[in-house]
Amino acid sequence: MADAMKNVLDAILSEQAKPADYANLPLPFSMRAITTHKDEIRMFDGLESEKKDPRLSLHLDEVPVPEPGPNEAVVAVMASSINFNTVWSAIFEPIPTFQFLERAAKRSPWDKRHDLPYHIIGSDGAGVILRVGPGVTLFKPGDEVTIHCNYVDMQAPDGHDDSMLDPDQRIWGFETNFGGLAEVALVRANQLMPKPPHLTWEEAASLPLVNSTAYRMLVSHNGVQIKQGDIVLIWGAVGGLGGFAIQYVLNAGAFPICVVSSQERVRLCETIGARWVIDRRAEGYQFWNPDGSQNVSELRRLGKKIREMTGGEDPDVVYEHPGHETFAASVFIARPGGSIVTCASTTGYNHEYDNRYLWMNKKRIIGSHFANYREAWEANRLVVKRAIHPLLSETYPLEHTGEAAYRVHHNMQIGKISVRCLAPEDGLGVRDHEGRSRHIGQINLYRNAVKGEFRLVKTEP
Ligand code: NDP
Repeated sequence: MADAMKNVLDAILSEQAKPADYANLPLPFSMRAITTHKDEIRMFDGLESEKKDPRLSLHLDEVPVPEPGPNEAVVAVMASSINFNTVWSAIFEPIPTFQFLERAAKRSPWDKRHDLPYHIIGSDGAGVILRVGPGVTLFKPGDEVTIHCNYVDMQAPDGHDDSMLDPDQRIWGFETNFGGLAEVALVRANQLMPKPPHLTWEEAASLPLVNSTAYRMLVSHNGVQIKQGDIVLIWGAVGGLGGFAIQYVLNAGAFPICVVSSQERVRLCETIGARWVIDRRAEGYQFWNPDGSQNVSELRRLGKKIREMTGGEDPDVVYEHPGHETFAASVFIARPGGSIVTCASTTGYNHEYDNRYLWMNKKRIIGSHFANYREAWEANRLVVKRAIHPLLSETYPLEHTGEAAYRVHHNMQIGKISVRCLAPEDGLGVRDHEGRSRHIGQINLYRNAVKGEFRLVKTEP
């Protein structure tokens, strides 16, 4: 590690450095970062998605550290996390992310900085601000922050009720360069949020993207605004998104129906507090016939299973993201007047479903995408208040990011995987030790990737 980067790390680890100390530290000239390469976007041509291997396309490179422009901040990243968009970036699907960078570059000279032959990816981060650009007022060097990924400057009128509607809204580290899987990241100041002081760097980094997305889908008026008593079916209930959905549903006094694919995951849902859990693999649902037509008897079998558990009730809300494989089932099982809230299509974008079940029963489909600053801030605030907890199962060092992305690509992880960028080991960054020790009902799922140890701890009040 170069001297300038070592000085930054020493300042953070000392826990004594003041804002002026950070402002006086020279910005490192270069940094280690996880990149994709523009000249490799065709490397997986002809392969099925499953065969496209992030370990081949993600590189650890030494690249220049960017300077902050107006309303921007440069952050020393202690930890980041793997999201499914890390996988999409790494397998160049649905389109190579370089197309986003090229398109945005036409917008302004500041945007043009992002259009490079390499793309530093990563849409989560926890770390310490090193520099702020002109116009930044809410944060200063030395502040410990988490970073959400809504990248928007709010010049168009369209986004002023909801910044996710801004025509230039982008996802940082996916549709922009200088993302979180690096020792230093470049962000807009309105992506910054206070780091929850009771969490480690890697726990804090596992939260912003999926937690904010789940908040908007379920809690916000832009989503379904669940209320007590609602029955909410959650696909992938201990995946990245699902691990937060289950917490929001329980916090609301609503009832989750969790769908997962192993007995280990069933047990975890029950430990978190779910009463109704379905092991989709054990049930062997086949929603599609070999000829591609919908298998209605299988939809009915799922509906019957749900009614057996709930005493005859259908879900008020279905939390959708698998897409093609499950969408017809989601529309079928929602109760009359119920909602299907969707933010993704992991198994395919073209959804086919029988529309009679929708219109005749007055069901609604609500599209949702990440979260505006207010929603991300509220989701972060609930973490600070220890009402929402990380569901972190594994951590990897930066140089093994490809392996971590491979595991997410193949549905091998539970909850989230974090990546240590500057943090030399797990467990650092806790400032509120008392708050941490008073966690109420926290689930701490932890698998040491190197040693293969697995432990699940639930701290009772
Ligand atoms: P994860 O891989 O962490 O979790 C997805 C879960 O989906 C898995 O745990 C798995 O659970 C379940 N699943 C996978 N395949 C199927 C299937 N065929 N049928 C039913 N369930 C399935 O991913 P994330 O939760 O982080 O993300 C999910 C999707 O949402 C991705 O496509 C991602 O890109 C997208 N996303 C979109 C966002 C937005 O803002 N628009 C934000 C965040 C994510 P199990 O096997 O246990 O059933």
